Amino acid sequence: MQVNLNTIKKQMCDVGQRIWQRGYCAGNEGNHSVRLSPDRFLCTPSGISKGFLEPDDMVVVDSEGVGVFFSSKGRQPTSEIKVHLAIYDARPDVNAVIHSHPPHATAFAICDQPLPSGIHPEAELFLGDVPTAPYATPSTQAAADAVASVITPTTNTILMANHGSVTFSDTLLDAYYKLEILDAYCRLLLLARQAGQVRPLNESQLQELRDLKAKLGW
Ligand SMILES: [Zn+2]
Repeated sequence: MQVNLNTIKKQMCDVGQRIWQRGYCAGNEGNHSVRLSPDRFLCTPSGISKGFLEPDDMVVVDSEGVGVFFSSKGRQPTSEIKVHLAIYDARPDVNAVIHSHPPHATAFAICDQPLPSGIHPEAELFLGDVPTAPYATPSTQAAADAVASVITPTTNTILMANHGSVTFSDTLLDAYYKLEILDAYCRLLLLARQAGQVRPLNESQLQELRDLKAKLGW
């Protein structure tokens, strides 16, 4: 993938700003990364709010998660880089990963409630099936293995039990859009359950969405 490193670093800061402003991560939580080449990845550092990222904070790691280029600030790579690498390893088509703790989506992951499908057109089109990865301690290889265990060739969004979410795509912006769509969908579900009974889309409505998805090549 041909990339301009400075442009990607700035985009990582912009995405971090949005993640923080929308309350998807508190304190120093969350991390995101971009694939620069088959075995080089640009990632956010550990120990800094996603709302205060600067381009020079980013770190380049290899496919083992070892830092190979540190910024002038000497930041260390995110401690959850193993989850990102497991996704890149399983899916060569993925170029960007965002790990976050979006509150409405994480509520489902905390209550062991599978995310329902067949209810909302945008969630159906942009997220598809959203599996939940078993719980494992953050930053461990077990957490990476847990996420890897539920990835399929079409997965782009995963809930992490009692923890948060990962969204991934061919671009960082699209991975971010999936994060927004995920939390908005979960917020809608929680509101809808208070407002009344959730009415799923019927089979012909779902078929039309599947046809639309195929037509758009998604
Ligand atoms: Zn986390």
